[in-house]
Amino acid sequence: MKLVIGNLEAEIGQKTQGYLNIVNSDIKVPCTLINGIKDGKTVVITGGTHGGEYPGIEAAIQLAKELMPNDVSGKIIIVHPLNVPAFQAKLQYVGPYDGKNLNREYPGLATGTVTQKIAYTVTNQLHSIADFYMDLHGGDLHESLEPFVIYSKLGTDLVNKISKEAASLMGIKYICGSVSDNGSFGSAAKNGVPGFLAEIGQCGLWSEDEVSQYKAGVINVLKYLQVLEGMSEQIGEVIDLEKMNGLNATVDGCWYSNVIAGQKVSKGEQVGEIRDYFGNVIEKYVSPINGVILYTASSLAINVNDPIIAVG
Ligand SMILES: [Zn+2]
Repeated sequence: MKLVIGNLEAEIGQKTQGYLNIVNSDIKVPCTLINGIKDGKTVVITGGTHGGEYPGIEAAIQLAKELMPNDVSGKIIIVHPLNVPAFQAKLQYVGPYDGKNLNREYPGLATGTVTQKIAYTVTNQLHSIADFYMDLHGGDLHESLEPFVIYSKLGTDLVNKISKEAASLMGIKYICGSVSDNGSFGSAAKNGVPGFLAEIGQCGLWSEDEVSQYKAGVINVLKYLQVLEGMSEQIGEVIDLEKMNGLNATVDGCWYSNVIAGQKVSKGEQVGEIRDYFGNVIEKYVSPINGVILYTASSLAINVNDPIIAVG
C-alpha cells in the first residue's frame, strides 16, 4: 500500500525524503518515509523533540539515510529533527516562538501555538498510523545524564508489555516505567501505540560512539518488531528502575549539585543546593527515594521550575 503522511508519499519499495508541513503553519520538518517491499508493522521514529539533544537527532539523520526499502518489512517514518525551530535556535527544553516544551504539549492543538501544532501533527499524522513509536532524546544542553529509556505504563497490558520488552533491547542499562501523559510516548501509549523515549548523551555534546550506540539499539528494536530481518538480542545488563522522581528548582539562583549522573543515592541524602548571588544557601534538595541519579542540571544558572535532578 502507498504510504501517505501529510504532503509526503512513498510507493511500495520507495524511499521519500522531504519536508513534512506542520499543520496551520509555515514550519516544515525533515522527514523520511521508507515503504518496505514486504508487509509488516509501521514504525515512527522522531529525533529532536528537544532541539539541543544531538545524539538522537544525528542517529535519526543517519538511520534515515542508511535504511533501505529492500530490507524493510513494513514502513518506517523518521523525523530528523522534529523540533526544527528549537534546533535552529539552539534552545534547551522549549521552542523559540512560544517558550513551550514540546514534550509537555501532547496531544497538541491544531489552532494553538507552534509547539502545540507540532504535537498535533505528530499525534494525528504519525501516532495515528504507527504500530510502534521511538522518541530519541539525549541529555539537553545543561543536563549531565546517565543513559536510560522510559516506557509508558498508560497503555493496555499488551501495549505496556511490548513497550517494556522493546525498551530493554536498546542496549541501555536503565529502563523505567512512566505514567506521564503529556509527553509524546505517553500520549501514543494512551492511544494504543507502544513505544518509548530514549536518552543517550549530555550537555549539548554528541559523538559518533553515542550515535553508533543509538543506531545499534534502534536496529535491534526494529528486528524485535520484525521490520528488519534477524534476531534481536539482549545488549548488556538491563535494570528496571520501576519509577523516576524528578526535582525542580523552587527558587532562582545558582545551582550546586552534590552528585553526578550514574551515582547511587539514598532517600533523604542531600543532592544539591541553590545559593543566591552572594553565595548564601537559599534552598537544599534531598533525594526523594533510594536510587540512581539519571540526570542533574550542569548549569550554574537555575530558574524556578527548571529540572535539577532525576532519580530512578
Ligand atoms: Zn529531551
